[in-house]
Amino acid sequence: MKLGFTPAEEAFRRECAAWLEAQLSGPFRAIRGATGLVACVEQRLAWERVLGRARWSVIGWPERYGGRDASLAEQVIFAEEYARAGAPGRMGHLGVELAGPTILHFGNDAQRERFLPKIAAGEEFWCQGYSEPNAGSDLAAVRTRARLEQGPRGAEWVIDGQKTWTSLAQFAQWIFTICRTEAGSRGPAGLSYLLVPMQQSGVTLRPIRQITGEEEFNEVFFDGARTPAEYCVGRPGDGWKVAMGTLAFERGVSTLAQQMRFRNEFEQLVAAARANGAARDPLIRQRIAEAWIGLRIMRYSALRMLSGGREGALPPEALTYKIYWATWRRRLGELAMDVLGPAAEIARAAPYEFDDLPRMFLASRSDTIYAGTNQIQRNIIAERALGLPKEPRGDR
Ligand SMILES: Cc1cc2nc3c(=O)[nH]c(=O)nc-3n(C[C@H](O)[C@H](O)[C@H](O)COP(=O)(O)OP(=O)(O)OC[C@H]3O[C@@H](n4cnc5c(N)ncnc54)[C@H](O)[C@@H]3O)c2cc1C
Repeated sequence: MKLGFTPAEEAFRRECAAWLEAQLSGPFRAIRGATGLVACVEQRLAWERVLGRARWSVIGWPERYGGRDASLAEQVIFAEEYARAGAPGRMGHLGVELAGPTILHFGNDAQRERFLPKIAAGEEFWCQGYSEPNAGSDLAAVRTRARLEQGPRGAEWVIDGQKTWTSLAQFAQWIFTICRTEAGSRGPAGLSYLLVPMQQSGVTLRPIRQITGEEEFNEVFFDGARTPAEYCVGRPGDGWKVAMGTLAFERGVSTLAQQMRFRNEFEQLVAAARANGAARDPLIRQRIAEAWIGLRIMRYSALRMLSGGREGALPPEALTYKIYWATWRRRLGELAMDVLGPAAEIARAAPYEFDDLPRMFLASRSDTIYAGTNQIQRNIIAERALGLPKEPRGDR
């Protein structure tokens, strides 16, 4: 097991840190440390384009699509330095971390040429159209339908249905979505993975306000929305396999470096405890120490997973990572509220201008829900890592 990085990897770390520092103390100073999900949108979109031009946007992708062919370790190093530098949350993350890798692995050459360079360059943004009002954890229950029709522009998918909780849809030019394309099919069979343009009359959005006060996610309605027949990833009817591939990316490498962002939050919490005297409370001190231990475990687990994989893939232990970090951060949020005491409940301005720690507490409630709830993570660990029998379902 290798619990560190090589000298070449450390040199790479210095290179990315220097670039990030130059940008974030220079032209992008204003968005350094921005934590709001939908704050400073124009500057963050510009930031995406600068990342793309400097080839720091999708470093794990092949060079021909705008990446650097970076190894898993280098990808984690970059993500760590990104968080350490206080760089803003990625507006492009659904394209960079989900749509792009899915098209790269499951798409065809024409799809790769059409979509990947624009994601890498920060010119096209994506959203994820999986969840529906009655299909969340039970994703195979999706009811959005698509049928092939001959239109004036050739064969097209025509889509009807509703998605929900669609993050960042208001900024997206494209949505990757799962639709039922075989009438009468049930469960995972008969689904297709379609790439659909958002700016068309058949797509409407309705924002949903979150507990943080932000409108980061939306309902998305398809009423005769259209996309070319060739924008189906994988074979029609075989979309479940592709959809599961995307979820593996969502829980994979991109999360291994999150502990660096969490460390920033942890340090803010410690500073608040020192400032208001909560650090003198023995129980608070104990919980801070536990949080620190959890953070270190996260870091060493990430390093262990990186050294245990084969041919660029993560080992089965990586399946434990999502439930671990999500549960840890939810507890950190609760600790932050106890450290701040009643002051945590006072917003800077009406109606929802919270400071970073109370907002972190509120946002952390969603960590154990998106990308698979904690209960679903337990199923995944049981079935895919431990090989236990599959959970009984009515449709299999
Ligand atoms: C901040 C945020 C952003 C999101 N962004 C997106 C997005 O961009 N695109 C998108 O498609 N979706 C998105 N989602 C939706 C997310 O994927 C779903 O909320 C999640 O899959 C859970 O589905 P659900 O909300 O329908 O809950 P349900 O599936 O109805 O679950 C309700 C409860 O039942 C439990 N449960 C369900 N099934 C089982 C089971 N088999 N065994 C044990 N317990 C079970 C769950 O763990 C949960 O506690 C987002 C969610 C959040 C909170």
